[in-house]
Amino acid sequence: MASPYDICVVGSVALDDVETPSGRVRDAVGGAAVYFSIAASYFTKVRLVGVAGKDFPAKTIRHLEKRGVDLAGLEVSSGDTFRWKGSYLKDLNQAETLDTQLNVFATFRPNLPAHYREAEVLFLANIHPALQLHVLSQARKAKFRALDTMNLWINLPETRPVLDKVLKKVDLVCINEGEARLLSGCDQLPQAARRVLRMGPKAVVIKRGEYGANLFTRDQTFFAQPAYPLEIVRDPTGAGDSFAGGLMGALAKERNFSDAALRRALVWGSVMGSFVVERFSTAGTASLGPAELRRRFNDFVRFTRL
Ligand code: AMP
Repeated sequence: MASPYDICVVGSVALDDVETPSGRVRDAVGGAAVYFSIAASYFTKVRLVGVAGKDFPAKTIRHLEKRGVDLAGLEVSSGDTFRWKGSYLKDLNQAETLDTQLNVFATFRPNLPAHYREAEVLFLANIHPALQLHVLSQARKAKFRALDTMNLWINLPETRPVLDKVLKKVDLVCINEGEARLLSGCDQLPQAARRVLRMGPKAVVIKRGEYGANLFTRDQTFFAQPAYPLEIVRDPTGAGDSFAGGLMGALAKERNFSDAALRRALVWGSVMGSFVVERFSTAGTASLGPAELRRRFNDFVRFTRL
């Protein structure tokens, strides 16, 4: 039985090869839906929709289950898991994609199990906008819907009109600086955000890596800036998705989507993003205690109070 506080997330489940100035990992667990689910699981029940191959580690499945993540919507297909290879050697704030192998993700057609369709909160991680639209048509009870996207879908002439349709149906867009500029055609972020707001959503969150995150709604602007001042960032992979998990998790837990709740959620997003980048893959958010989470939230508030 679903509860109103549940979040349904649809996105990639991946094995990543990542190199950063701190080192490299191969076949590390990743994917937007995985990073998101782990981060959001500290706040509420998460129901994941995605596809993995037979090579996806059983250990991770057990870990997600232990964290209470519902995997009824995780399809395990014969074939290999989606693979992404990225480098942060040139710029820690910007991944350079070296290789992508879609594998079982190529034929992914998200289908929400019946009980997922009751969830009030929906997060459409970065997938093809036609799939995002397909999910929206199944999650009709969702009261708060958010999406992430990427340059490819914004740029391609055949996907942009579909993305524009999706934008009209969501409440929140959670994108990075570059995506905001590309989507809006504006260089200045406040202007870019205003333009995205005119495309449909009630709120726009712009993730800015080490510079934090900005929230724009029709009535207000709020900056969680800068990001938590970490001494070392080992692996930025999953920062955006863990941020989104913290943000959406906090909103779902409060069951409040007001501007004030969005401001608090922006800080929770920053908290989860800061934990994940401290270690490679999902190690930074794998098991955190409530005191640790609260301490970092309070630090953020303290750092930014005049
Ligand atoms: P983030 O660093 O938060 O943007 O998320 C990185 C995660 O997104 C990695 O674990 C990748 O496996 C996954 N990813 C990379 N490229 C794509 C893509 N084209 N579609 C879906 N997921 C992707």
